[in-house]
Amino acid sequence: MQYGLIAGERTKAYPGGKAVCPTCGEELVAKCGSIKIWHWSHKSDSDCDKWSEGETEWHLGWKNMFPKELQEVVIKKGDVIHRADVCIPTWDGKQFVVELQHSPISPEEIKEREEFYEDMVWIFDAQDFADNFKITDKGEYQSFYWRYPRKSLMTTTKPTLFHLPDTVIHHRHSVDVPPYNYEKWGTWDEYSTYVKENLCDLKILDNGQRIWVVKHTVVSTTYQDNVFYIQKHYDSGKEGNFKTGWGYLDCSGDVVSYLLSKMDKPRFFKSLDRQTNKNPITCV
Ligand SMILES: [Zn+2]
Repeated sequence: MQYGLIAGERTKAYPGGKAVCPTCGEELVAKCGSIKIWHWSHKSDSDCDKWSEGETEWHLGWKNMFPKELQEVVIKKGDVIHRADVCIPTWDGKQFVVELQHSPISPEEIKEREEFYEDMVWIFDAQDFADNFKITDKGEYQSFYWRYPRKSLMTTTKPTLFHLPDTVIHHRHSVDVPPYNYEKWGTWDEYSTYVKENLCDLKILDNGQRIWVVKHTVVSTTYQDNVFYIQKHYDSGKEGNFKTGWGYLDCSGDVVSYLLSKMDKPRFFKSLDRQTNKNPITCV
């Protein structure tokens, strides 16, 4: 884990450091080698949280996109205690958990975690099977075909995201799309707030006339880091034998800001955005 407790303070591992596990209270020792990421490990060498995976660059990259205090949050329900990778306090006083899963996981464990965390989203590291995962752009959404699918990953009942490396993605728009489309124009004399607010460009026509044109950005998406939201997958006859489905592709930064927006009381325009902008996690 990234954070151990030293005198009650959440502290990152440092060479020779000793801390206490925030989950079980056992002693932690700092593992600060040159290969693995510096982290805390239980002195007994086995993590008290059986759901815990070893710290990887992948986990860390995701966790660190969230504020420190939302990372590795201990959640206790009755006698059961677990450490959520990320836990976001929502505006209505509830908790929303982000589970990051790098290694294969059984359907049983998926069910267990979903029952424990209740309100949550899965983010699976799809690096290892990304080459078998083909995405086709359908404009409003993207369909996928998955050779040799990992069936357990389709047993989730909570929003499910696959984190794909950039190499498998066919960019949604070719790069020769012009940066702006002009949707409205007028003569220079009629210029208005558009000019003042710098929302337009000045153009000089062949006859020397100066006009203004309102510009709006054309989204030319060159994803660097992608998550694919599984909206639906289809069985091909035999139960659980899916290979195809559809969903939405988005970049990881957008997903994080969407998740963090759960802390804010929804405002009218936000719910509008969610209907039109096909945000990947609208189904929650
Ligand atoms: Zn512990």
